[in-house]
Amino acid sequence: MAVTPWGPDFAGLARQDPELAGIILSEIDRVSGGLQLIAAENYASPAVLAALASPLANKYAEGYPGARHHGGCEIVDIAERVAQDRAKALFGAEHANVQPHSGSSAVLAAYAALLRPGDTVLAMALPHGGHLTHGSPANFSGRWFDFIGYGVDPATGLIDYEQLRGLAHAHRPKAIVCGSISYPRHLDYAAFRAVADEVGAYLIADAAHSIGLVAGKAAPSPVPYADVVCATTHKVLRGPRGGMLLCGAELAERVDRAVFPFTQGGAQMHSVAAKAVAFGEAAAPAFTAYARRVVANARLLADALVGEGLAVTTGGTDTHMITADPAPLGLDGRTAKGRCAAAGIVLDTCALASATDPRGCVKGLRLGTAAVTTQGMGAPEMERIANLMGTVLRDEGVVREKVAELAGRFPPYPDEGRIMQPSEGVGRL
Ligand SMILES: *Cc1c(COP(=O)(O)O)cnc(C)c1O
Repeated sequence: MAVTPWGPDFAGLARQDPELAGIILSEIDRVSGGLQLIAAENYASPAVLAALASPLANKYAEGYPGARHHGGCEIVDIAERVAQDRAKALFGAEHANVQPHSGSSAVLAAYAALLRPGDTVLAMALPHGGHLTHGSPANFSGRWFDFIGYGVDPATGLIDYEQLRGLAHAHRPKAIVCGSISYPRHLDYAAFRAVADEVGAYLIADAAHSIGLVAGKAAPSPVPYADVVCATTHKVLRGPRGGMLLCGAELAERVDRAVFPFTQGGAQMHSVAAKAVAFGEAAAPAFTAYARRVVANARLLADALVGEGLAVTTGGTDTHMITADPAPLGLDGRTAKGRCAAAGIVLDTCALASATDPRGCVKGLRLGTAAVTTQGMGAPEMERIANLMGTVLRDEGVVREKVAELAGRFPPYPDEGRIMQPSEGVGRL
């Protein structure tokens, strides 16, 4: 089997299905020809991608190691135990469930383990950085629970812990959720725990973004404070797309039953194996160095973006993530994102609490340094990225080729050139 960085036998796929092979090649071209600054994205290692593309994808495995509904699970049981043990060791947790298919399914399972429909939950308001699963009316969370939103101080962008405490005492929630899609600073988990204890609430940490920094010792861990920690494995952590739950021994059985059989059927064993590979990588000293570089790069990029005239929320970052309002340049987030996209700079918009906008909320930009740091970029490149973004946002010239030149010097998969030679009959889109 010819092994490529993204799985076995790409040449075979290209021969059998040139249409799909062409689509995959085009996506690889898109990614490697631009700057990927989406805060939730990263490049999983060739080893993680190889596990994902392995025949473990074929195995049905409902249940847990040693207690499956399907036969023939003796090998994948070992893979899942390795993944659990590595996760427990990496995060210092008593129990790990590595089966959630995504971050959202991990959150759903955490709610299912601790709550009943109709319960009151206190979470970050969506316009201030809450995730869909923190009470959006379009999501199961908003439909099945009564969400109350806390937020940030619009003037500083920092979480208003006094408001949180006041809302907790007024509404007596069954659970408090901490974690955000766009908060660039560390969370004060001790403060969240104290408020939860004052009102007898569970504390659920949705560490989807920060868990990779926690693994690399570049962010505080929610594990000692939260009753249940929800996470993804594909953001800074650099594993396969998927979710994970961590908790103490006393909630282990409730959490496991909330994942299977309550919210999911069979585990995806290729993904479980790939999570184990990622946990193994994250336990190595090289990952600690990576996590530190991710944060150092984000700080440099944030400073440089201030220099380019953007209003960086909270004045900087503690993490891989930067949020910024492009209003000082006369742009809203949507227009700014579009201009960047046309230049090959890929980032997101996000909602930002605003003290100056009468609606109290504006559309800003959200970007992160996890992917570009995996590519090997450092301080000079962060300066360059900010400079290219400033040029684009001020409409001072065309930078598409300069972006491609910079990206081209840092290929995400260094031997892709050798492996991804265009095969005969495979057309790029
Ligand atoms: C990314 C994210 C999720 C959801 O992850 P998916 O894998 O996309 O379902 C949940 N919560 C937070 C805070 C996130 O950032």
